Amino acid sequence: AKANGGRGRVEVHDEALGEGYVDQLQLETDLRHALEAGELRLFYQPIVALSDEHLLGYEALIRWQHPTRGLLPPGAFLAAAEDNRLTSRLGAWVLHQACWDAAGWDPALRVHVNISARHLAEPGFSELVADALATSGLAPERLELEITESTALFAADATLHAVDQVTESGVTLALDDFGTGYSAITALHRLPIHTVKIDRSFVADVVTQPATAALVQGLLQLGQGMGLQVIAEGIEDGEQARWLREHGCAMAQGYAFGRPAPLPARELDDLAVPPDLVGLDDPSVVPD
Ligand code: C2E
Ligand code: MG
Ligand code: MG
Ligand code: MG
Repeated sequence: AKANGGRGRVEVHDEALGEGYVDQLQLETDLRHALEAGELRLFYQPIVALSDEHLLGYEALIRWQHPTRGLLPPGAFLAAAEDNRLTSRLGAWVLHQACWDAAGWDPALRVHVNISARHLAEPGFSELVADALATSGLAPERLELEITESTALFAADATLHAVDQVTESGVTLALDDFGTGYSAITALHRLPIHTVKIDRSFVADVVTQPATAALVQGLLQLGQGMGLQVIAEGIEDGEQARWLREHGCAMAQGYAFGRPAPLPARELDDLAVPPDLVGLDDPSVVPD
């Protein structure tokens, strides 16, 4: 990555570390630089109502426009950033940028932001959220934070406290990758969850595997019984969309409705002027 950093190094492909990176320190150094150099981007993927496919909002998904490796997905660098300070700085950047972008959209649209469990447990997290909302002017009700089930998440009282403070302001919480973790039920029991997102590994098999279909029906009933919003993730075709609609799932996300894509950057002096929403070249997701 660095001009002379590759000399004498052996390039390996280790998923956990980040594609092409030999050591974690180098990745973290480059990532820190990327943050300062403005190489990080937020892509936005539409979230739609399954009934008529109208647009409800977008999920922010981080990308790294790497100077030599091209556009990197989060799987290529996020998990490898083990330094807590770096994780927090990345998380802060994502929150600020996403709130800022969303404040320029149609006010009916919400923004979903992924939060790492480690970041959530850190002191100052709820102040960070408040600051991102205040700076951008985004109404708290338009922000949903997505968290994944993780053991670390439930161990910490600090986490529960931060979650309470954030949700009291009107921000909502989504449980991401629902059904894949070991502690999904504990999470639903202990945290003020507003939305569950059914993991795309289930959606992928829902039409073809009766056992998966039964499992998804169970997840839908659980969500509905608890009065939660349910979003099906990773819908790739019309058959999956139809199955989920017919089984009572109200909201969806997936390549069938739109891939993650950049929305136009919002300039600082555009504050009062909402930019046209682009990334809506699929006419089925244009709001009416
Ligand atoms: P996630 O939050 O579950 O996001 C959904 C992932 O599924 C995204 O991958 C999205 O591009 C992909 N996806 C959406 N629809 C489809 C589909 O129809 N088919 C398939 N095959 N994939 C689909 P992505 O962007 O690579 O992100 C992966 C994960 O990285 C996210 O999973 C999230 O856990 C994490 N992540 C992304 N952005 C951020 C961020 O800003 N902060 C944190 N902490 N984590 C992030
Ligand atoms: Mg997510
Ligand atoms: Mg997910
Ligand atoms: Mg995921």
